[in-house]
Amino acid sequence: MTCTLCPRACGVDRTGAKGFCGAGERPTIARAALHFWEEPSLSGTRGSGAIFFCGCNLDCLFCQNHEINHTMIGRMWNEEELAALMLHLQAEGAHNINLVTPTPHVDTVIPAVLGARKRGLMIPIVYNTNGYETLDTLRRLEGIVDIYLPDLKYASSLAAERYSGAKDYFDFASKAILEMHRQCGELSCDENGLAQRGVIVRHLVLPGSVDETHHILDFLAKNLPLTTHVSLMGQYMPCHHASEVPPLNRHLLQREYDRAIAYCIQLGFENVSIQNLKAADPSYVPEFNGNVTFNEE
Ligand code: SF4
Repeated sequence: MTCTLCPRACGVDRTGAKGFCGAGERPTIARAALHFWEEPSLSGTRGSGAIFFCGCNLDCLFCQNHEINHTMIGRMWNEEELAALMLHLQAEGAHNINLVTPTPHVDTVIPAVLGARKRGLMIPIVYNTNGYETLDTLRRLEGIVDIYLPDLKYASSLAAERYSGAKDYFDFASKAILEMHRQCGELSCDENGLAQRGVIVRHLVLPGSVDETHHILDFLAKNLPLTTHVSLMGQYMPCHHASEVPPLNRHLLQREYDRAIAYCIQLGFENVSIQNLKAADPSYVPEFNGNVTFNEE
């Protein structure tokens, strides 16, 4: 079967060939662990059960996770093994299962979630995506995903092409976010402030690109309720090839971040997470070694 899971629509048979994302027939997992560096409603006190998949349908020149972006680290996992891993993370205390860059692996993720739920998985499923999604793939996830955690990276095709090699990014990501909101609605949390269902839109403010941020926020303000949870991130670091491409070769300035936050407030968003710019530190990038082992619960 040929792969058209994402807007790249490579049309390759992944049993024997690789498309843009580099993913094989089944997912390769670079890391699975409790993760404490997501938004507070996801990390809580015990951590988010993050499963980092290898392979990505974007090629961001500043990617923090570039080691696993297009390189497969570790072995391939089938749906039963992935279900068992989810149950293991739940038993470890994870507040949720956080599927990081899951798009190329939806064919395995869906049966894995269904199988894990039959075996007692109770915690929410978080779909942590770069936003470059098709509506067809998202519709298959209705009832599977509880919390969508999409990026909305760029509004202009120029930035999307230059920085991530996807000039049609906004066309797809903007529609995708509306579909996610249709499926799961606004974020709802339990009495401890832990996310249970809904959408959190992430936007990483880039150096020299605050106007791009304004366009993103304008789109969100016009198309979603102002109560939508917006995670305005300032943790940009010049990783991967960014050191060669000004202005991405530097950190975000406090005054740039302040402008982005002020615009968010000016538009009237009521639920905005912001960061301390000290979060832009390589020590927050997890180690990826593909060495994921556990005893079945
Ligand atoms: S998921 Fe990968 S192989 Fe499939 S269409 Fe997207 S980039 Fe191509």
